[in-house]
Amino acid sequence: MAFISVNKVCRTYGNEDDPVKALADVSFNIEQGEFTVILGPSGSGKSTLLNLLGGMDRVTEGRILVDDKAITELSENEITDYRRADVGFVFQFYNLIPSLNAYENINIAARIGKESFKTKTMLAAVGLEKRGKHFPSELSGGELQRTAIARALVKNPKLLLCDEPTGALDTATGQMILDLLYDMSRKYGKTVLIVTHNDTITAKADKVIKLKDGKVLDIQTKTKTHPNTMIQETDNRSSESQTLLDIQTNTQHTTNTQYTTNTLLKTIIQEIDRHSSETKSVSDTQTETNTQLNTNLMLKTIIQEIDKHSSKDQSSKDQSIEDQSIEDQSIKDYFASKGIYW
Ligand code: ADP
Repeated sequence: MAFISVNKVCRTYGNEDDPVKALADVSFNIEQGEFTVILGPSGSGKSTLLNLLGGMDRVTEGRILVDDKAITELSENEITDYRRADVGFVFQFYNLIPSLNAYENINIAARIGKESFKTKTMLAAVGLEKRGKHFPSELSGGELQRTAIARALVKNPKLLLCDEPTGALDTATGQMILDLLYDMSRKYGKTVLIVTHNDTITAKADKVIKLKDGKVLDIQTKTKTHPNTMIQETDNRSSESQTLLDIQTNTQHTTNTQYTTNTLLKTIIQEIDRHSSETKSVSDTQTETNTQLNTNLMLKTIIQEIDKHSSKDQSSKDQSIEDQSIEDQSIKDYFASKGIYW
């Protein structure tokens, strides 16, 4: 089953006497992690389609499924939850709150999400770690869009919907924003849909869906590299620092994932303890080489643990009730005592 499935969707505006068929019998599928561009001239139905996918508008006919959820059949409350938790939006004119600085703009979204990333982590991920205190009026167009991308991603949505994200930027800045969207979609495994009238931005797309007069004209799909493989290809950081970032990210999750996170952190703590005692027993002459070997071993075990935990199913949560005893603060204190901070 595709991650997004759009089946025979119609959206008609106006009344029976004077109907405007914005979308007529539109069908396509998008796989998880795909970077898709929806391309069409003005009036072809792009915004209408984006609004339907984002739960901001309702279909006249047809069905849309996102991650096995028929969003066309959700109640008003359910569709609000879907929009809030599952979808991140990036707009042409950024839509940032002028009276809040970049950090605060992102942090608001982080507080809405149920499994948000850390605001600081996301600010750094878009290259704005030194601009967090600046207000929108003090940022360039590219920086504003970076902030908007961080705001859209911080709540850890399943889907990122972008409406002409480069439309207000010069060509070079626009290309940088596209590269960032692409890298972020790969790094965080997000499904990204960009709607645009600009056919120069299709180069990186896994899939290009062309719209004309409310109909699908053409669908092109390129061979896709799995998002996990792309993380290794696009991320310059070492696997060790990647792991530490992932640990930081994991600790930001709220109670839904708390059992798994605590189990994971408990294992990491045990591993660090084991590592410390092994390091102490190493003789002076061998210290440096052996410490490095032990560190590598420790990190390898942590990576394996993270892999194992990320593939665990719901039932494992029930077996790890005892792990709840590890509270966030004590975890932070423990890591601080080891000289590790976040
Ligand atoms: P695009 O984003 O590709 O420019 P839109 O989805 O905005 O296209 O519009 C598709 C068609 O639907 C256009 O003919 C537009 O005039 C019409 N349309 C869009 N929104 C409305 C609306 N709220 N009421 C009436 N017609 C609309």
